[in-house]
Amino acid sequence: MTRDIEIRGIRIFAKASACAHACAYCLIGPKKLTELPFPRFNALAERFIEWRNEKPNPPPHVLIGFEDSYEFDVEILAGLFHLYKKLGWDDEGMSVKLGGLRMRTEAEMHDWLLTRRDVAGLKVAHASLAGYGTIHDQWNRRERDFDFLYNAMRDAVGLGLKVNQRIFISRSTIASIDKLVLELDKITPNAHRYLSTFVYSGFATRLEAERITEEDRDRLPSSVAALPRRSGDNWLSEREWISTRSDLVSDRSTRSVTLSLEVNERNIDRLESMQCEEIIAKLAEQTRQAYATLPSRSELFEKYADPSNRCIYASMDEIERKWFDAYRRDYNFDVAKGLTHLAA
Ligand code: SF4
Repeated sequence: MTRDIEIRGIRIFAKASACAHACAYCLIGPKKLTELPFPRFNALAERFIEWRNEKPNPPPHVLIGFEDSYEFDVEILAGLFHLYKKLGWDDEGMSVKLGGLRMRTEAEMHDWLLTRRDVAGLKVAHASLAGYGTIHDQWNRRERDFDFLYNAMRDAVGLGLKVNQRIFISRSTIASIDKLVLELDKITPNAHRYLSTFVYSGFATRLEAERITEEDRDRLPSSVAALPRRSGDNWLSEREWISTRSDLVSDRSTRSVTLSLEVNERNIDRLESMQCEEIIAKLAEQTRQAYATLPSRSELFEKYADPSNRCIYASMDEIERKWFDAYRRDYNFDVAKGLTHLAA
């Protein structure tokens, strides 16, 4: 049975900014950068925003990213925020991730944040933390990274910025989360703080032994259990997902897909010569073809589901990716990357 999809929009992104980290849980995995200059990316993104804004309600989703880190000039950040405002984003969207920045002294980081606040209109600084102190440093594979993030968050609060904190929960971080939260409260108790499991993607596909189990989830200390979970996450084990959400294992559902348009120095000339509708139609066709080659969800379920697995996954997509990886190994199966939710 084929997989039905409906197109809900497009994500336009360029991997043009190096990430200074090599986190063991990175959901991106190996990184390859483009030399694409921002003005050309910006012009293409603006064209798509205008196209989107002319559509009747509800307009298609348009997402824009200049990745893999915010390690770029303040003028680029100002340009990105300008695009986000045209998309109707509010202050919460005027945000940078501190993860992926190169190490700076406290004074250098202060200038970095201050300039981005005053020139680009930065409102929010986001940090991801995998445990307290050296536990975090080991996961992020950088000495003193925890201290760097901690000081940067404290400085951000002093500059009047909002701070968002993602806290990764795993077998090796769970015991330090209580202490971590106490320390983060000293910066500000008002941060938007949420728990997240490692996402089954990229390098994190190697970390199955780090997944918390049903037992861990059900016995969290009350201070940790009280923290919200990442928006949209549902912490169920594979056993629970397949016994309670059989609708998600069904082949009958239609998947809503955001197309992925990765812009780089090899395709920018061609994209600049095409209309938005043309780009969407071509990408939609490639995406449909990629989905048509995938094994059905019921086939993956029958071959690879493990009803005894009590490890926690935040979404059914992650479990399906795990099944699909087993299928790929068994059948030596390959599919174009970036077109489907199973092969990012
Ligand atoms: S900072 Fe983000 S993009 Fe960079 S390695 Fe870590 S998880 Fe991956």
